Amino acid sequence: MKKQHILIIGAGLSGTCLAHQLLKKGHTVQLVDRGENHSTAIAAGMVNPMVFRRMNKSWRLDEFIQEAKSYYLELEQTLQQTFFHPLIIRRMLSSEQERKYWLEREKLPEYQNYLMAINADDDAYSSAENQFGSGRVNNAFWVDAQAYYQCNMKYFDERQMLTKGSFDVQFFDEEKFTYQNLSFDKVVFCVGYEQMNTPFFANLPIQQTKGQTLRIHSNEIPANESLNRKCFVLPIGGRIFRIGATYEWDNPGLMPTEEAKQELVGHLKVLGDFSYEIIDQQVGVRPTVLDRRPILGEHHQIKNMFLFNGLGTKGYLMAPTLARELCEHMLDEKPLDREISIERFYKKLHL
Ligand SMILES: Cc1cc2nc3c(=O)[nH]c(=O)nc-3n(C[C@H](O)[C@H](O)[C@H](O)COP(=O)(O)OP(=O)(O)OC[C@H]3O[C@@H](n4cnc5c(N)ncnc54)[C@H](O)[C@@H]3O)c2cc1C
Repeated sequence: MKKQHILIIGAGLSGTCLAHQLLKKGHTVQLVDRGENHSTAIAAGMVNPMVFRRMNKSWRLDEFIQEAKSYYLELEQTLQQTFFHPLIIRRMLSSEQERKYWLEREKLPEYQNYLMAINADDDAYSSAENQFGSGRVNNAFWVDAQAYYQCNMKYFDERQMLTKGSFDVQFFDEEKFTYQNLSFDKVVFCVGYEQMNTPFFANLPIQQTKGQTLRIHSNEIPANESLNRKCFVLPIGGRIFRIGATYEWDNPGLMPTEEAKQELVGHLKVLGDFSYEIIDQQVGVRPTVLDRRPILGEHHQIKNMFLFNGLGTKGYLMAPTLARELCEHMLDEKPLDREISIERFYKKLHL
């Protein structure tokens, strides 16, 4: 196939996963990013295989998780940077029902890679009240999000594959497919929660879901696993922990709030009466979709213009596989799964 030159707007998780996929297939890319990131770089970067409320595996987990691990581990080699960290998550069970689900699922072959069988130590575990016991999740991991974003920016910048600054539609010629007088075969928008501020895809429903986390220092919280109930406690080294995260739909802006801090402090108390100091509070915005599925595909009128968005709360799990699927769709015309395709919104809008 002819080598293609592809313009990617946004160098967060979606833009960088797509860029690496395209480079791997022998194509060339130019990323445009304004250098301010409030999602990929702010995230806790955790990949939890389970959805605890119903104790189900995350959507398309078995496909996503292997590819995600391989992607981050290979990329560590390419970028000469460590950001992938295996993790055990300890869920403090919140009800008799949750415990029942766990005990049923831990015996099923399809859960054996993820749910460890609850043992007497798990039941006895905790400095907090532990009425329903606890269970450990295997095969989780976290990606150091700051490191991931920064070393990607550096990598693409050093190779002249990154234009720093805002995408300016004035310099984009829709007819000739040029941007700042350079020609491209395709353009892909990977702009996260800012989609409504960019032309071409502003009518598609990306919600802005604000999230806040705390960074704390504690000599008492266990650092060998990630405690979970009401909030997560992620050990990130040096007895420092990320506590998160809030979900806020009606609180725009990027300012940290006292309300969110108190919410997280309250949730942490449920996990134990630990002493700690708060280091700082971080704020970000997730690009989410009401039906909780990402949005991928081609613009309904402009051929060769694509969207890759809606990674929501599980971006670090889904992005590597979805980037590959979008690549195969753009370059080999492989159809996208209906569940993730942009077509579901164009149909609703009668476009
Ligand atoms: C507090 C918080 C915690 C999270 N925790 C987790 C977690 O533990 N695990 C997990 O999997 N996910 C987590 N997420 C979600 C995850 O961060 C997102 O799914 C993912 O990062 C979205 O990536 P993206 O590339 O779509 O968007 P973004 O990261 O927002 O990237 C978009 C990029 O486009 C650029 N851009 C936008 N508009 C323009 C323009 N006009 N011109 C130039 N550049 C532009 C921006 O500068 C930005 O760098 C969390 C998110 C938050 C906020």
